Amino acid sequence: MVVCTGCSLLCEDIELVLKDGTISQAKNLCRKGHAHFQALFIERTRPMIDGREVSLDQAISKAAEILKSAKSPLFYGWSNSTLEAQAAGIDLARRLGATIDDTSSFCQGILMELVLTGKVPTCTLDDVRNFADTSVFWGADPSNSHPRHLSRFAYYPRGEKRQKSYEEERICIAVDVRKSATARLCSNYYFRVPPGQDAEFIESILAVLDGKIPRFGDKKRMIELGTVLRKTEYGVIFPGLGMVYSLQEKMDLLVRLVAKLNEITTFMVLPMVDHYNMRGFNQLLLDETGFINRVSFQGGTTVHGPEQSVMAAAKSCDAALVIGSDPLSALPFGTARALAKTSLIAIDPRRSLTTDAAKVVIPSAMYGLEAGGTSLRLDGVKIEFEPFFKSELLSDEQILAKIKEAI
Ligand code: SF4
Repeated sequence: MVVCTGCSLLCEDIELVLKDGTISQAKNLCRKGHAHFQALFIERTRPMIDGREVSLDQAISKAAEILKSAKSPLFYGWSNSTLEAQAAGIDLARRLGATIDDTSSFCQGILMELVLTGKVPTCTLDDVRNFADTSVFWGADPSNSHPRHLSRFAYYPRGEKRQKSYEEERICIAVDVRKSATARLCSNYYFRVPPGQDAEFIESILAVLDGKIPRFGDKKRMIELGTVLRKTEYGVIFPGLGMVYSLQEKMDLLVRLVAKLNEITTFMVLPMVDHYNMRGFNQLLLDETGFINRVSFQGGTTVHGPEQSVMAAAKSCDAALVIGSDPLSALPFGTARALAKTSLIAIDPRRSLTTDAAKVVIPSAMYGLEAGGTSLRLDGVKIEFEPFFKSELLSDEQILAKIKEAI
């Protein structure tokens, strides 16, 4: 069996047959996972310095030289690496007095912090399969982002207390700005919220739960939603990026809503994080420093705040190590341009805009197929995996160990 690292569900039941440089047979692999693994055969990176192919040892030595002489290095990425590699990265960042941040900094970190610090109750995906009768996908479209979520956990499977499953016992509610693929599945339980108005929507639910007339949205529909939530035995809210970007600084409204729902029944929260081990990095850094992201170890102290975010640090750093991430494609133009101008080191199995712009490129093994390790699924359950086949390529953890040794 292979563990798919295509998303944070980390499906452990994948069967693969590889033949003639392609996936010839696959069982249980969704289309997203297929594309993820198929990328193994295209656009692989090679060791490079300034666009010139070199040996792996030369690339690692150059990376070590850059990091050693940097006064304010930035370490970024991490959500697509194992716990072992993340721990090695945090250790190296501490030794070098670097700033370290991950992809959660500009996506779901604010939600993950609520979960990891116990501000909202949470559960495992196995609890969802066994007990949940209501799943609320809020600003999330698992049919595309986590394609096996509904079939493995939230809607279709029969669980310990949900033998009649989606036919009679489970409801999925979609709250979104558009009728997504998941919202189409939810049919009667799709609630459209105009962009940026999730706060008003939550206030309306709170009003309905308090027996008041809601001020926002279709009153009849809001009362229907309140009734469904009240009748729920075990509910789970799965917030996605849509909710994060809409609520921004008003995330306390979600905390209030969950607290209110738990006065009536049981409701949990599980953020729909995308990258397969974002939660792992957030948990490790929290255990080590008390913060889930945006940390600087400069001068032997631990500092946390917006100035330590990748967006700010990219503009002040003199070297950047990017691992398993493509910030030049994903981050705002100003941040991407600043990163491209610095002494950029990219560790990645696949070619990307970031590896193309990097001063030093170090190819790595692809986790799940060529390298093993442990990761935290989106619900915090630890998943261990072995490499599917032997590869000459080094894992992120091994590369970091060699850089440390060279420094
Ligand atoms: S749902 Fe996610 S982890 Fe599971 S097979 Fe699809 S991409 Fe891979």
